Amino acid sequence: MHEFNEEVNALAKEILEYSLERLRKDPPLDHPRSLAELTSLAGQTITPNGLGGHEALRIFKEVLATSCISTDHPRNLAFIPAAPSEYASLFDLVVAASSLYGGSWTEGAGAVYAENQALRWISDLAGLPESAGGTFVQGGTIGNLSALVAARYWARREIPGNYRWTIACSEEAHSSIASAADVMDVDVLKIPTDAHGRLDGKTTKEAIVNFEKVNPHHKVFALVGTAGTTNLGIIDDLQGLAKCAEELDIWFHVDGAYGLAALASPKTRGLFIGVEEADSLIVDPHKWLFAPFDACALIYRDARIGKAAHTQRAPYLDPLEDEGLLNPSDYAIQLTRRPRGLPFWFSLAANGSLAYQRAIDHSLSLAHETAELIKSRADLELVCEPALSIVAFKKRGWRHDDYVRWSDKLLTDQIGFVTPSAHNGETILRFAIVNPWTRRADIDLIMATL
Ligand SMILES: *Cc1c(COP(=O)(O)O)cnc(C)c1O
Repeated sequence: MHEFNEEVNALAKEILEYSLERLRKDPPLDHPRSLAELTSLAGQTITPNGLGGHEALRIFKEVLATSCISTDHPRNLAFIPAAPSEYASLFDLVVAASSLYGGSWTEGAGAVYAENQALRWISDLAGLPESAGGTFVQGGTIGNLSALVAARYWARREIPGNYRWTIACSEEAHSSIASAADVMDVDVLKIPTDAHGRLDGKTTKEAIVNFEKVNPHHKVFALVGTAGTTNLGIIDDLQGLAKCAEELDIWFHVDGAYGLAALASPKTRGLFIGVEEADSLIVDPHKWLFAPFDACALIYRDARIGKAAHTQRAPYLDPLEDEGLLNPSDYAIQLTRRPRGLPFWFSLAANGSLAYQRAIDHSLSLAHETAELIKSRADLELVCEPALSIVAFKKRGWRHDDYVRWSDKLLTDQIGFVTPSAHNGETILRFAIVNPWTRRADIDLIMATL
């Protein structure tokens, strides 16, 4: 719509200055505004003649951006926050400016080559064979859905009979598994966890065998193990689950959206033994691998199955037909895609994998230190030893409303963002520590308000 005239040049400068300023310093935490407030502050932004780049950017900078909580603030410990490295964020600007098509090797070979090296790094950490491959999708939700669709494709081929297909997972599995089952119109068998919140192989096998005995028209085709629950970071007995899946001849999917990042540290790698047997796995670089939103690595043990399940066919797509297993579009519910794995690849390539190990180790030790701090205070109670980098605790005597009030005030005072959660029917607080810039002093600042 515009050539690169003087006005566009000036806007380019302004956008770069804003972006660099945003990246250089700790961003303000900020807070949401109500719809009424935003309507009055930003008003109607879509107009027949346009506001012009400068004015649209002004509205963004002054009103819209400040109405979004900074997910990468070092004292944002709510949900699973974000912590993109400087290199990853900067390179995202390059990806945006390059108009790269990441769907096929024909159109984006260089981008796909780099993304595949990043996927290979994860496959190697997980111990997957050479046959492994996949793609980066938008998030863990689409990653889990795509993996389970491939699992059902495989099951329809391998398991004769007309069954009601069922996915087995733990009661603590992420909500996206139930959502995937809904989309796929399959059932879910939720299996209770042990006293530590883990799903173990023996209980799982008994539960599946028993379920199929009672429901002869149902067949469990996939078992989902969680490698780091979102609430507490608990890792299922992946070795036991792998064995169970093998004995029952069903697909084994590992949902490691948050936790599998800890494969990068030798300190925690042992917690994931069994993941090397997975038929598919996911991990979100936008959670704990220092990439910007949105990127989920989806990897199949045998890339051919993912491709067979997902490749779209149309006469106009024939020229892209690919024997070399190199078209990212073929591995998930997607066709057109940006090479969203590139910011992650660039950061990994530029910083090196040891920097990733150090950054993960920092989160792990800060989580451990925080747990010790909580144990040292008589008014606080640790829910469980942190398995990874999530620290969950309660304040003695507090009711749900006290937690909500405290959380609201923490944000209003712009100190931090920590939201209440629940465990065993009780309200808890949890710190999800994924940001290498979160320091002990940040934890102390938040703790001082409790
Ligand atoms: C966050 C998360 C998901 C969902 O990932 P999105 O990227 O938010 O779609 C799935 N599983 C687990 C264990 C998660 O922590």
